[in-house]
Amino acid sequence: MIDLRSDTVTLPCDAMRQAMLVAPVGDDVYGDDPSVNQLEEYAADLAGFEAALFTSSGTQANLLALMSHCQRGDEYLCGQQAHNYKFEGGGAAVLGSIQPQPVNNQADGTINLSELASYIKPDDFHFAQTRLLSLENTIGGKVLPQRYLADAQAFAFEHNLKIHLDGARVFNAAVAQNRPLSAISQHFDSLTICLSKGLGAPVGSLLIGDEALINKARRWRKMLGGGMRQAGMLAAAGQFALENNVERLAEDHDNAAYLAQQLADVPGFNVDSAQVQTNMVYATLENINPVQLQSHLQQHGVMISAAKTLRLVTHLNVSRSDVDTFINAVKKFVSQ
Ligand SMILES: *Cc1c(COP(=O)(O)O)cnc(C)c1O
Repeated sequence: MIDLRSDTVTLPCDAMRQAMLVAPVGDDVYGDDPSVNQLEEYAADLAGFEAALFTSSGTQANLLALMSHCQRGDEYLCGQQAHNYKFEGGGAAVLGSIQPQPVNNQADGTINLSELASYIKPDDFHFAQTRLLSLENTIGGKVLPQRYLADAQAFAFEHNLKIHLDGARVFNAAVAQNRPLSAISQHFDSLTICLSKGLGAPVGSLLIGDEALINKARRWRKMLGGGMRQAGMLAAAGQFALENNVERLAEDHDNAAYLAQQLADVPGFNVDSAQVQTNMVYATLENINPVQLQSHLQQHGVMISAAKTLRLVTHLNVSRSDVDTFINAVKKFVSQ
């Protein structure tokens, strides 16, 4: 099957599996797993930070970041569309006693800084204390402008806030701009990275920050049941992903651009090709039933999520000819 639902569906390749098989391991709760230690040091270096922590998921890594920057009764500012507000089960509130203050995302994914300023609470015991600004890059497949990151960092500094990046797909942002990770991460106090999406590892994320933050996060991770033992088998997949699967994200971006361009020519599919910056294509349907489309495509070997606005994601396991297969199946559907 050609699976366009998400880049989370990527499968570990044979070489990655081999790296997992031969990875030296130990008990990571004792700090004894050489493969985990190597991955954490490697990732921290890439981002230009002191330390990193290997986590079971991006959701866990974001939660650890929020709980390590904020205390009970504190507040974080984030986008209305932020994953760590909208798609993580309310974990910050439920498990961290931290209040989210969502603010509208603009069309390009940024949050207007003067609007953000109006949400910062005064130092008064009626209010939660605003401690942190959390951004996301890429967000909905869009790359936050570098200029904005610098402005957001200055804004956070001016207002005595910490600034966190949910960088689940930060390598897509880096590759799309032909910049190193550090060009993005330098604007933040911490960031999370998903190894299990476009990078192709089966499991795992990283939280990256300074030593003090990562020490706090390590304690929370244990409390949340995220202390893993011979986790090096998983870390080795992450290491392989960082060493081999970053540059190739450019192929996914090219395939997404191609998919968007092809789909824009099909009647009933509204695609703004100019908005396709990385590996995601959004297409709004006109007079097309998404469930019927989904089942037609399924019969032609293509999986999508049914929605009025389709999100189509290219990745490691989608080739240019897979995109052609998809486009041909769509054309067939429309011509029926
Ligand atoms: C997928 C994703 C996460 C969470 O990662 P999981 O590993 O699925 O928990 C966090 N933030 C963003 C932006 C994501 O896309």
